[in-house]
Parts: sequence; structure tokens; C-alpha cells
Amino acid sequence: MTLRFTLLLSLLALAPVAAHGQAPAPARTVAVTIDDLPFVTRRLAMPEIASATTRLLAPLQRRGVPVIGFVNEDKVVVPGEVDARVALLAQWLDAGLELGNHTWGHVSFQRTPLEQFEAATLRGDVVTRQLLKARGSAAPRWFRHPYTHTGPTAGAKAEFEAFLARNGYTVAPFSIECTDWTFATAYEKAQAKGDEKLVREVEEAYLAHLDGLVTFYEGEAQELFGRAIPQVLLIHANAINTTTMERVLGLFERRGYTFTSLEQALADPAWQSADAYIGPWGPSWLHRFRVARGEDAHAGVRREPDPPAWILELEKE
Ligand SMILES: [Zn+2]
Repeated sequence: MTLRFTLLLSLLALAPVAAHGQAPAPARTVAVTIDDLPFVTRRLAMPEIASATTRLLAPLQRRGVPVIGFVNEDKVVVPGEVDARVALLAQWLDAGLELGNHTWGHVSFQRTPLEQFEAATLRGDVVTRQLLKARGSAAPRWFRHPYTHTGPTAGAKAEFEAFLARNGYTVAPFSIECTDWTFATAYEKAQAKGDEKLVREVEEAYLAHLDGLVTFYEGEAQELFGRAIPQVLLIHANAINTTTMERVLGLFERRGYTFTSLEQALADPAWQSADAYIGPWGPSWLHRFRVARGEDAHAGVRREPDPPAWILELEKE
């Protein structure tokens, strides 16, 4: 092919954009991460959890969303249910999804000495490693701190991150969360009442709240970086997400998002910003990025929209 012909083809390829005189809108992407595997529930028995897992995973699998599920192995090694619960993790792997480490016991680094926290991390991936090895898959590589409590002091935080690196782990940050655990508890309370109308109302309130938070975090990203950045969603393997997963994904799709992997999302330069947060909360990394700029991460959290008061009341009932 001659150089001139190649140039002509390049110009033709650019033509549709030039004709409209504007660059295409930046693609919005989101990586989905799901915590507290295999499942969080107060109400469901083992066979129901297996079917709930199938329903949770189906919409993700249909779209090929590259989810990472973060496991608490104390929720796997349950006397009398070990095989059934290991089978739940296998469901995730069968769906082509990845498993990460969320510690044994879902312990808070804020309240746990470094050595104990490291021990909970090592104990947190024993079953996962065996499962992956049996499939010829690579060892787990992502770690998420429970409550995203990343360390009580700068020293402990740095020491633990060095420990993670030595063990082949990378910290999995997030940008968007929507206190889905609050809605999940309210949802189970509504189900326990047998009040179908209330159950539907909780679902609607959950989706509306998530939508509001996506808007909020899009604004935060815009303010920090002057552009959209790949977002990372943190939700839990719970009852409300089981029912609404199709609509949760639809919500992002309607807003122009496509789904990406955590690795791909974090490759964006925005995610190379320093997480300088040290404190008792587990805020979004978008709030943490402000700390390095001399701002207060907690102020960012306080600006987040709250769930409706009636949801908070139902949660406490
Ligand atoms: Zn968790």
C-alpha cells in the first residue's frame, strides 16, 4: 500500500468526526467489584443461597462483565456446609469471574494489630488458592480491606501494603459505593414482613440512591481531574443485589457506561494519584485523592447523599 493511499484511508476514517466538528464523547467505563462472598444474608438457608448466587451472577455472565468477587473464607468454612459453600465459590469461577481476598473474619485493620491483620489475610485465601490451583488458574491477586479500613497509621498502612506486595497482592480501591448493606438489611426486613409492596419500594429506593451516587461521584471525578475517569463500583453479594443486578447494570448502561476490568480501570493515570488517607473511615478513593491536595476526605464523605430516612428506620427495626 502506498503512503499516499494509507494517508487517504486515515483521513476517511477521521471524516465522520470532522464532519460534525466535535470529538466523540469520552467513553464511560466502570469496573464491578462484589464483596463478602460467598453471600451475606441473615435469612436464607444453603440451597436458597446457591440459587441466589446463580441469579446474582446471571446478568453479569450474560454481559461478560469482568467482576472480581472478594471472599471471606470464614463464610466458606462453616461446619456442615463446607462443600456447599466451596461450590458457591466454584460458581463464580465457572461464570468466568475472578476471586480476591477479603480476609478471614472480615476484620477491621482499624481495630486489629498489624500481625493479626496479616494472619487474617493469609488465612483468608487458603480455599481460594486450592480452588484456583485445581483449575490451573493463577493465584488470587487482589486484596480488599474489610470496611476499606486501610490502616490506623501511615506506618501500619505502608507496612501492610509491602506485606501484600510480597504475597502477590494489589489493593483493590473503589470510587462508587451506595451503602447497599443498609438497603439489603431493610430489604430483608421488608421480606420478613411479607409486605410485597414495601419490598418493591425498597428496591426502587435502592436504585434511585445508586443513581444519585453515580451522579455524585461523576461530579467528584470531574472536579478532581477535569474529565470522566473509569469508575470502580463496590457492592456486596446480598439479597437486594440478587434481585436488582439486572437493573443495576442497566442503570450504568443507560448512563452510557461499558463494563471494564479492575486492572483496565486502574491503568488510567487518575488512579495513579496518591491515597494519602489515614483515618477511621473507609472512604471512596475519590475522597482519598483530595488528602494529597491538602483537603479533608471526611468533608467529601459528608457531601454524599444519604439513603432516605425511612430506609434507615426500616434497617434498624
Ligand atoms: Zn466487606
